[in-house]
Order: sequence, then C-alpha cells, then structure tokens
Amino acid sequence: MLDQSVLMQMREYAEDENVPIMSDDGINYLLEYIKKFNIKRILEIGTAIGYSSIMMCSCSPDITVTTIERDEKRYLEAIKNIKKAKLDDRIDLIFSDAFDVKLEDKYDLIFIDAAKAQNINFFEMFEKNLSDKGTIITDNMNFHGLVYKDPEKIESRNLRQLVRKIKKYKEFLENHKEYDTEFLNIGDGLAVSMKK
Ligand code: SAH
Ligand code: MG
Repeated sequence: MLDQSVLMQMREYAEDENVPIMSDDGINYLLEYIKKFNIKRILEIGTAIGYSSIMMCSCSPDITVTTIERDEKRYLEAIKNIKKAKLDDRIDLIFSDAFDVKLEDKYDLIFIDAAKAQNINFFEMFEKNLSDKGTIITDNMNFHGLVYKDPEKIESRNLRQLVRKIKKYKEFLENHKEYDTEFLNIGDGLAVSMKK
C-alpha cells in the first residue's frame, strides 16, 4: 500500500514550490487507463518530483516506470520521494535531458509531460520505444486554457509562441497516419494517441 502521507507531502511541496504536478482528475484518468489496458511498462518524460511516477506505479505491483528529469533540484527531490514510497526497485529515474537519453526497451505507455514546446520532438524521438498497440499520452494540451484563447490576445510573446507550438502538436497528432488520437478535456487537457 502506498503511504498516503508521502503523497500529501508531495502535493504540499508542489504547491509551495510551484511544481506543475498532474491534477487529480488527470491522474485518475491515467490510472484508470493503465488498469483498463493492463499496462506494465511505462516511460515518462518529465518526472518533476516523482508524483505521477509514484501514482502510476501504485496501480499494480508489477508495473515499472522509467522516468527522465533534467532539473537537478527536482531530480533530487524525486529520488527522496521514490525512496520514501519504497518504489526505488520499480522506478528507474534518469537525471538527464531527455534528448540525450537513448533507450532500447519497449514500453506499453509513453507519458509526455515535459517542455510543452518540444512535444513533436519528444514524440518522434521516443515513438520507436513504443510497443505494438502501445499508447502515447501527452499532458497539458490546453495549457491552462490558453490554447483556446485568441493568440493575439496573449500578451507575453513567449507564451504566444508556446500556445502556437501546442496547436502545431495537435495538428501533428490529428494528421499522424499511424496513430488515432483522442483529445480529452480532463485535467489540463490530455491527448491519447493509440498506435493503429
Ligand atoms: N509528470 C510530473 C510533472 C512534470 S512537470 C507529475 O505530474 O508529477 C515537467 C518536468 O519536465 C519539469 O520538472 C521539467 O524540468 C522537465 N523537463 C522539461 N523538459 C525536459 C527535457 N527536455 N528533459 C527532461 N526533463 C524535462
Ligand atoms: Mg503536466
């Protein structure tokens, strides 16, 4: 059983330190999906402090997660949390920029939750690690509702660029011949791309 106090502490830390961990409804959807499709091997891009990795592992004792984080402070925090949750034997935490990581293994689920402007690149880089009939789920497709705003009304130039990139990624998924993608208004917006 997962120690609830560890999860509570993580949520508090995330709140205090502005770490964008998944919201309850997003994580609940993810957990239901993992159970429904009997997913066992998961790759996550963007660990932050380990919250979603730990939650995903909690679905079943035979789930393993490989997860990548480039920020040292968050990586160190994630190590601590994974130890506290006693999941260090099932969560393989890699401290690196995801673009420098070469993986050979196949995964049933790839969860992309890192730099939002890089989603197409993450997808194209790690797609080769997806098992047949696997799924790629991407978080923050709504980007706090900004994706639905008229881009000209977004004042910050960086934010405007980011929103454009998320829209581009959406088009990329819609037009991808090898995947069927569903866009869900759950949490901050999820894209669920199943290999055909
Ligand atoms: N999945 C986490 C939240 C991740 S927040 C959860 O729900 O609990 C996104 C994280 O991705 C940040 O910590 C950021 O440092 C990391 N990140 C962004 N771009 C990255 C990259 N190229 N390689 C590795 N990590 C990256
Ligand atoms: Mg996210």
